[in-house]
Amino acid sequence: SSATAPIRATLFPGDGIGPEIAESVKQVFREAEVPIEWEEHYVGDQIDPRTQSFLTWESLESVRQNKVGLKGPMATPIGKGHRSLNLTLRKELNLYANVRPCYSLPGYKTRYDDVNLITIRENTEGEYSGLEHQVVRGVVESLKIITRQASLRVAEYAFHYAKAHGRERVSAIHKANIMQKTDGLFLKCCREVAEKYPEIQYEEVVIDNCCMMLVKNPALFDVLVMPNLYGDIISDLCAGLIGGLGLTPSCNIGEGGIALAEAVHGSAPDIAGKNLANPTALLLSAVTMLRHLELHDKADRIQNAILNTIAEGKYRTADLGGKSSTTDFTQAIIDHL
Ligand code: NAD
Repeated sequence: SSATAPIRATLFPGDGIGPEIAESVKQVFREAEVPIEWEEHYVGDQIDPRTQSFLTWESLESVRQNKVGLKGPMATPIGKGHRSLNLTLRKELNLYANVRPCYSLPGYKTRYDDVNLITIRENTEGEYSGLEHQVVRGVVESLKIITRQASLRVAEYAFHYAKAHGRERVSAIHKANIMQKTDGLFLKCCREVAEKYPEIQYEEVVIDNCCMMLVKNPALFDVLVMPNLYGDIISDLCAGLIGGLGLTPSCNIGEGGIALAEAVHGSAPDIAGKNLANPTALLLSAVTMLRHLELHDKADRIQNAILNTIAEGKYRTADLGGKSSTTDFTQAIIDHL
């Protein structure tokens, strides 16, 4: 029956350590009996003229059709005449929001043990578009474009996310005291959306103050929504609060309900092929994908197995100060399922 038919999801194992950590996800999903059928796509070695990138049109179509996918790290080949892989994905799939859950991992000691926040970054406009040019020698100009459409879209997603995940508060992060027109419009859009969600508290925090508060007491925050460049910076700051990029999952939300989850780290060429990589970030990204699909039982089961394995401390990869291989750590997670 259609109720038990597996859900098709696109998987980009990616480069470097990507295939090793993707294998770990596939194994854990199999053992946890997650009803997902992976459609694997690799980055090609030739430029596809339809995408102007090493990503083929078929790969992009796969995500468009399945509406859900998981992406390992991709190393963009050097050379002219093609678009960066991540940029191609972002533009072609219109991935407008980047969502990063950040929570303290019990048993893995960092400066804070009560972090539990979500950053939601606008992903399509602002300074980050790199619209820059030289006016005359010694004078350059950068365009920061903020639109009502993109701001409303990401604000809607943030409040929708807060409500769907039982969160209490959304904080809009800005610098509207200086960037009055651009950040001002972003805030106006957040306020409009906030009015439709009276059950969710809404506040506005200036970004410099936000940084200080995050470092002093991250427990002050719940869901944070912000323009592109601020999100780039704040989301890495938050990753640092819980132990670094090797542990941090993320999910990109696109037009038409697409969700493409990805680890935030790169392809780690220094340890690739050595069975040393930590699969946690990609596994937790896969968990965000399950939550997007509302497969919360499976998501909880896998997330708890990962957290319990790390908390137990017997099997940890080298980046967390342990001696385990990727495969031994993965097996330990499977044993905790
Ligand atoms: P990186 O994240 O690959 O590596 C930085 C350091 O962190 C390295 O020492 C690496 O060994 C370590 N590390 C990263 N992930 C780890 C994991 N899961 N387990 C254990 N250790 C881990 O960053 P980089 O070296 O700057 O980039 C390498 C390549 O990755 C570049 O080609 C870059 O373009 C690409 N990259 C891709 C993405 C992406 O696809 N989203 C993101 C960042 C970088």
